[in-house]
Amino acid sequence: MKKVVKFGGSSLSGAEQFEKVREIILSDKDRRYVVPSAPGKRDKKDSKVTDLLYEAYGLASEDRDFSEVFKKIEDRYNGIISGLGLKISLDKEFNTIRENFLKKCGEDYAASRGEYLNGILLAEYLQYTFVDAAEVIFFNEDGTFDSTKTYKVLHDRLEGIERAVIPGFYGSYADGRIKTFSRGGSDITGSIVARSAKADVYENWTDVSGFFVADPRIITDPETIEMITYTELRELAYMGASVLHEDAIFPVRREGIPINIRNTNRPKDKGSWIVQSTGQKSKFTITGIAGKKGFCSVNIEKDKMNSEVGFGRRVLQAFEDNEISFEHMPSGIDTMTIIVHQDEFIEKEQSVVSELNRLTHPDSIDIESDLALIAVVGRGMKSSKGTSGRIFSALAHANVNVKMIDQGSSELNIIIGVKNEDFENAIRAIYNIFVLARL
Ligand code: ADP
Ligand code: ASP
Ligand code: MG
Repeated sequence: MKKVVKFGGSSLSGAEQFEKVREIILSDKDRRYVVPSAPGKRDKKDSKVTDLLYEAYGLASEDRDFSEVFKKIEDRYNGIISGLGLKISLDKEFNTIRENFLKKCGEDYAASRGEYLNGILLAEYLQYTFVDAAEVIFFNEDGTFDSTKTYKVLHDRLEGIERAVIPGFYGSYADGRIKTFSRGGSDITGSIVARSAKADVYENWTDVSGFFVADPRIITDPETIEMITYTELRELAYMGASVLHEDAIFPVRREGIPINIRNTNRPKDKGSWIVQSTGQKSKFTITGIAGKKGFCSVNIEKDKMNSEVGFGRRVLQAFEDNEISFEHMPSGIDTMTIIVHQDEFIEKEQSVVSELNRLTHPDSIDIESDLALIAVVGRGMKSSKGTSGRIFSALAHANVNVKMIDQGSSELNIIIGVKNEDFENAIRAIYNIFVLARL
């Protein structure tokens, strides 16, 4: 058996957490390849090292003094070194990073140093080989992940190493410049390493005992999902269940490597399994609920639009020309609604509206902002009747006005649009009927 283990920021936030991590790794000899994040928050008021690096580099790039913020970063690592009694100094590394900041080496380089330095410390602590992600994870010139080169180089490199630490979150372009994934991207690195190493399992260690049916910041003590499919997880992660990066399943999905979400602070808990497919029914009609605030709906009305050939294409053209991607597109006979991200849309609003007018000559265009989208996801919904009806009545009881509802043709998810201010109430209402009342 070969396992790849990724530890998130809170799992490696200080010396005490490093001790737990070491215990977990050493307790199973199959845990051979380790992917660390940068040190996260030790408590609610603390800062993530990645955020401090962005802040310091922001100052450096404006030629302002960044020494105070940089000192905080150094202190975090030095605290770990002294807390663990390591005989290593990062002073040389700090100097190089400082010099590169002055040379304006780029934001991605700056942010990546959090994982890089933590990887050096963890490798030293475990006495594992350190493999710099810049040498084994690659990006194409357009910023997309270069999977072909990465899988080959990383596979060959790991073949010769029994146990290694590979920092998360970054890689490099062909010319050596550093590039990061989007925030939370160490999850993706873990998945890439699991695939390249042909691992049997990808364990993703975090600060919760698995993937919960709903966001624990909204539902107190939510139920844990024991088993979830890649597809369900992707829907939930994309819609804000931030426990795992939404792109983290792609590298392992084709190979069918299961992901096990585990809690560094409660290593005995079994956590959640994310798998390709399962015959196991989920405990409730739904597998999970997630959602995000900050959407706008653009409602276009025109009599007999459904018989006008090319109408939909022209509507979407207006959005495409303004480089706006759309999230959902529920439609009626004479209406079509396009749901977009508010922050992307708002500055281009008038340009989109005028183009819609020009291309489609609608009867009316009505824009509504401050909407939240909620995804109710579940492989079990296909075989159970009346799920959307139950959602509707639960929301009506909770006094939540439903603005939109869209059921994917896969019958795997139902998307509900509500006002931002109804978001939490709506999630609670849906959780209550399916999980607490088990309807
Ligand atoms: P890490 O630093 O280990 O990568 P993250 O902060 O990225 O951890 O992800 C874990 C957090 O995700 C949890 O602490 C929790 O607050 C949040 N979260 C949001 N939705 C869910 C969910 N459905 N299940 C579990 N955790 C969730
Ligand atoms: N440290 C990075 C972040 O804060 C990546 C990660 O934690 O996965 O986004
Ligand atoms: Mg994370």
